[in-house]
Amino acid sequence: MLKKLKVGWFSFSCSEDSTIIFTELLNSHYQKWKNEIDFRSILVMQKKEDVDNLDVAFIEGAITSVLQEEKLKSIRRKAKKLVAVGSCAIIGMPSVQRNMFDEKIKSELSPFLIRFAYLDKVKKISDVVMVDDMVPGCPMNEEVFLKVINKYLCEFGITNKQK
Ligand code: SF4
Repeated sequence: MLKKLKVGWFSFSCSEDSTIIFTELLNSHYQKWKNEIDFRSILVMQKKEDVDNLDVAFIEGAITSVLQEEKLKSIRRKAKKLVAVGSCAIIGMPSVQRNMFDEKIKSELSPFLIRFAYLDKVKKISDVVMVDDMVPGCPMNEEVFLKVINKYLCEFGITNKQK
């Protein structure tokens, strides 16, 4: 069996535009990636999910609830490398906008935060777990994403040299 890079793609609170960019990239890269990448979890492509023992986890979006925080920590424990994808994941914006609301709006929102078990403050990914790499942009920069994925394909011994 060919060795493949075990990859998971996870979206938290965001508009999921980097996921759309990723699916666009599949148009030109799928034929190559299907021999190199084992997609263990990516809801936009498949229902099956196996997040144990991932090589690389790509994380899109910001963290808005305790449940999301726990899921992210669990992914971190199971992934050798974790990459924050897009501005919401890296710096929090624009998903963290509610952190900047004034006290009046915050108190109006507070019943909803309690009802849906949201955190008082939205967090960027590095507020919760260690991040190994970043793909900036809103949505993500395709060229940087390709550099990162090629770097890990090489680092994990799937391909011989970085492209
Ligand atoms: S980084 Fe931009 S494109 Fe990506 S989820 Fe956030 S708002 Fe949407």
